[in-house]
Amino acid sequence: MKVAVVNCGSSSIKYEVFSLPDLVMLAAGLIEKIGGSEGCLRQRKRKADGTFEEQSHVKPLADHHEGFELMASVNREDRIIKDDSELFGIGHRVVHGGEMFREPAVIDHEIVAAIRRLIPLAPLHNPSNLLGIEAARARFPGVTQAAVFDTAFHHTLPPHVFHYAVPSAWYADYHVRKYGFHGTSHFYVSREAAKHLGKEPEKVNLITLHLGNGASAAAVRGGASVDTSMGLTPLEGLVMGTRSGDVDPALHFYLMRQTGMSADELEKSLNSQSGLKGVCGLNDMREIIDQAERGDTHAALALDMFCYRVKKYIGAYMAVVGRVDALVFTGGIGENSATVRSRVCGGLKHMGILVDEERNVTCSGSVAGIHEEGAPVKILVIKTDEEREIARQTIHAIKKAGL
Ligand code: AMP
Repeated sequence: MKVAVVNCGSSSIKYEVFSLPDLVMLAAGLIEKIGGSEGCLRQRKRKADGTFEEQSHVKPLADHHEGFELMASVNREDRIIKDDSELFGIGHRVVHGGEMFREPAVIDHEIVAAIRRLIPLAPLHNPSNLLGIEAARARFPGVTQAAVFDTAFHHTLPPHVFHYAVPSAWYADYHVRKYGFHGTSHFYVSREAAKHLGKEPEKVNLITLHLGNGASAAAVRGGASVDTSMGLTPLEGLVMGTRSGDVDPALHFYLMRQTGMSADELEKSLNSQSGLKGVCGLNDMREIIDQAERGDTHAALALDMFCYRVKKYIGAYMAVVGRVDALVFTGGIGENSATVRSRVCGGLKHMGILVDEERNVTCSGSVAGIHEEGAPVKILVIKTDEEREIARQTIHAIKKAGL
């Protein structure tokens, strides 16, 4: 049997196929330009010797249903999923689960309706996730499907953390609170860290840093999320590729009055024209570090701001968590940039955070320690694997539902 994990955007489907029971990844693909005449599927397929073979197909794709049809036919030809009956389940990444979804849910009409009701809270993400769910249910009607929510890991935030200091009716009437995102990644690396440290998952205290194009930090006490940097939406917190992270809330009213920008325009600017890109025009951390090293002052400022904001959250979460077993770096930047890791951890010796620079530069593998020998706080670089975690949670949810 196989399980497929899908993450749908408005014109894309990202997917991975795993074999059961060992969760070996058999294929990983990306379908893009759905809705256009040059739809494209690119897939990496595992060969018998464990290496991967790349393949691509270009054809017009009218909608996500046709995207799933292409995915099914390519995988049928490659004998990865011989027919639909070989699929134990399909797991969908859903960004916002609100307060309702504390764990994965097997999808039925009511779950679809509940995800739809959450659209006002996540207008940029949940509509595409729903589009994918509906198209996959139509294309694979006999296959059980589950939704795995990015917010779920943070359902353990205590009230004094998740409430904003605003009129309480806003929470009661409009569900205004901190939800947190990247939960599947924070959960996955927390469990991997506990394994590496030889601790029970529910006994581990961590600060997990998911640093990618989107970025967030989580304070993990006893294996549970007790604070996280993203909030009502993924805009709050760290400086990101194109998102501002924390700003003074009064900035919005000031700019709307000064420029005549509408709420929608401002939302777009803060989500897609801000962050690293807003400061220096680039949002790829590799290019930013390169430009900063060549003396570009805007790139240097963007890098300084990114690292400073992460450091500030570490300080805050050290205070929140108390005894911290490990600081965990993950995400494209966290896993790959020794420069960022070194800058983020620099000057934190008084907190027990000491990087071994040689280990920092040479680290590799799925879990690596980069702390100085004997340092009180371990520093781990862990490759996140949200798809594998979604696959695992999908299987668990389907079995729990007795399906
Ligand atoms: P993600 O969203 O997790 O895929 O991460 C994307 C980010 O990771 C981009 O900003 C990339 O520039 C960054 N990234 C990937 N590899 C490296 C690297 N070797 N050094 C610095 N940043 C990297």
